[in-house]
Amino acid sequence: MPTYHIWTIGCQMNKAESERIASRFEELGYEAAKSIDEADLIVLNSCVVRQSAEDRVINKLHDLRHLKKEKPDVILALTGCLVDSDTTHLKRSYPFIDHFFKAGDHPPWLEKADTLSLPHHPTPSVFVTISQGCDNFCSYCIVSYRRGRERSRPLEEIVCEVTELVRRGAKEVTLLGQNVDSYGHDLKGKPDLAYLLTGLNSIDGLARLRFLTNHPKDMSRKLIAAIAVLDKVCEQINLPVQAGSDEILQAMKRGYTVAQYRHLVAQIRQKVPEIAISTDVIVGFPTESEDQFRQTLDLLSGIKFATVHVAAYSPRPGTAAARDYEDDIPLDVKKARLAEVERLQEQIQTDINARLLGVTVEILVEGRNRGKWYGRTHTDKLVFFSSDRDSAGELVNIKIDKTSPWSLQGKIKSDNNYQEEK
Ligand code: SF4
Repeated sequence: MPTYHIWTIGCQMNKAESERIASRFEELGYEAAKSIDEADLIVLNSCVVRQSAEDRVINKLHDLRHLKKEKPDVILALTGCLVDSDTTHLKRSYPFIDHFFKAGDHPPWLEKADTLSLPHHPTPSVFVTISQGCDNFCSYCIVSYRRGRERSRPLEEIVCEVTELVRRGAKEVTLLGQNVDSYGHDLKGKPDLAYLLTGLNSIDGLARLRFLTNHPKDMSRKLIAAIAVLDKVCEQINLPVQAGSDEILQAMKRGYTVAQYRHLVAQIRQKVPEIAISTDVIVGFPTESEDQFRQTLDLLSGIKFATVHVAAYSPRPGTAAARDYEDDIPLDVKKARLAEVERLQEQIQTDINARLLGVTVEILVEGRNRGKWYGRTHTDKLVFFSSDRDSAGELVNIKIDKTSPWSLQGKIKSDNNYQEEK
């Protein structure tokens, strides 16, 4: 039987795409190779959002150049953010790669993805891409250039896919898009995310719905109301703020002010008080002064996010920021700012999680790691517990007896027997 290997780097959208490609290969009669060196067909699913990710992709491509010399029959394909519409330069730089295809595209040899290419035995928690590309052109981001303008998948297709995944065993679905808040604007009838969630909420057997990533300038009141009333939609939102200074937000071309962001958070918390809001922050954007960085710290201290994903700015060639600004914040300053955000956030998460000591939370068990079962709460907190029974895919209640900034531990209190109640 021919074998395949998919090497993936980057965001959840890339991981979801790789899962679909893997399922398609299996439908076509391939099986997963034990290692990349043993595969007959290798796909690199690339990311160029950060320099470090792009460097790893380039290193992997160099490895594959050697592999192709040793095994000329191996078929190599490159997809993900490194591939844009014009592949001329890539073909010139990497002539040993047999196929290039853009993220979300399906070359003839892979055929159009359909429900047949879904995993036969999905994990309890799965990702479903609802749109590709982004129209926002934030000044530091390469995604709008590489993934192209936003293209929403038809609503009926998504409902069909989720229904089928649930029939095959999935319990939790996370909808993915670069900006899920503008989902559907390019479709006939302009269905929006709230409408999509309402449709998915009624699927029998589905326990939980999540979605990411939101854009503060596009998140609607209608969506907030949907989160508040739809019982399967988890109380969790990823709402990247990126900076706490209006001048830096403007230079980033984010399309909102700090005051507008704070107002949005207040609206969300008023409608869904128990919600966990996470965010993304970039430190060391060109021209960011010490005072402007302090404004970011003030924002984080005031809002107290559930989690913060922080990155140091690195210029991406081809973006407006790389063209218009000198990368003028020294690396040691960027590193110090990043560490300061991490220290602050660790304290905030310590305090938030400590409040859960003695509380019983419901988790969806996703798997086992180092002898312990683990799963996530509605608010996306990672919880570990011990059990002799295989409870993967079940909703269980855990009484928390230990907390840390990054995860919780507890004892099983009762078992919701989700599967048996179906
Ligand atoms: S919203 Fe901005 S940061 Fe996010 S993918 Fe689009 S352009 Fe990039």
